[in-house]
Amino acid sequence: MNKLRIWNQHATWEDAEDAWDSGAAAAEAKQPVKKLKRLPKIPGITEDTAKGLKWKAFKYMLTHDHHGDVRRGVLAHPIKYTKAFIKSALRKKSFDTDGDFFLYGVDSISDFEKLLTDPDALLVLGFSYCEKPFECPSGRFTPDCIHDADNPVCRQCKVGKCLNAAPAYNTIAFSIPTIHYIGGRIFDIAHANPGRKILFAITACELVLEMFGDWGNMVDIQGIGIRFGGRICNTMKAFELSEAGVKPGLTVVKDAAHQKMMELIRLRRDAMANAGREGQDSVVRPSSSLDLA
Ligand code: SF4
Repeated sequence: MNKLRIWNQHATWEDAEDAWDSGAAAAEAKQPVKKLKRLPKIPGITEDTAKGLKWKAFKYMLTHDHHGDVRRGVLAHPIKYTKAFIKSALRKKSFDTDGDFFLYGVDSISDFEKLLTDPDALLVLGFSYCEKPFECPSGRFTPDCIHDADNPVCRQCKVGKCLNAAPAYNTIAFSIPTIHYIGGRIFDIAHANPGRKILFAITACELVLEMFGDWGNMVDIQGIGIRFGGRICNTMKAFELSEAGVKPGLTVVKDAAHQKMMELIRLRRDAMANAGREGQDSVVRPSSSLDLA
């Protein structure tokens, strides 16, 4: 468990980011992690896969819910969730896009930025496992992430940087091994914190962001998906293998999108500080969430 997150050790954002980046450069010089040499130019979703995708997503969600995460969640409020799901599913698209950002229930990134400054809103940060480095000390296909700034692999990892910068207050973070895992945790958060506004920012492949928008709308949460580049899953076959932990390639949040994520985290961090809410909070978190203390 990480005890001293870098952003908690520095008085200003700039000092913390400089310290993180110089540590990352030193770690890379000494023990570089494997990276993609170039981003492959492949479609986000293949033509065949794009056909009937809403139905494929629905079928996949129902037939692969082996631990009952999603079933239990839906059955907590079956009428409310079914109505909301149908309403979203009848729309051609359950989201808008702005570059690598997918927008769910918000009109623009600046709309999302305004929501982020509400200190009472809960923010769920999620990172799909396929962006973890091969050398990740927590393992790749796991819900774990130590985000330890003193670990040379974490120090070179974009997930590590985001989690060292994120404020603890009203922020709940996950490493995501499967779609059912994060679906179940979102239900847990919604049911344990009734009446609270829930926001999210989740990294994933375009296929996942396209397939599961209706499920997020069903729970009435608002947020953004950050689309990966790199060795993405752009067919159902690749997606299903990845959900079973078979993911030999690396995905990446592209530099510009990562920079924007850091700006959003900074905005949130500053908003919590301005509201005097930097300490620990009373939000009910799933025990599986990552430690941001
Ligand atoms: S920050 Fe998390 S995901 Fe990245 S290398 Fe460390 S444990 Fe793995």
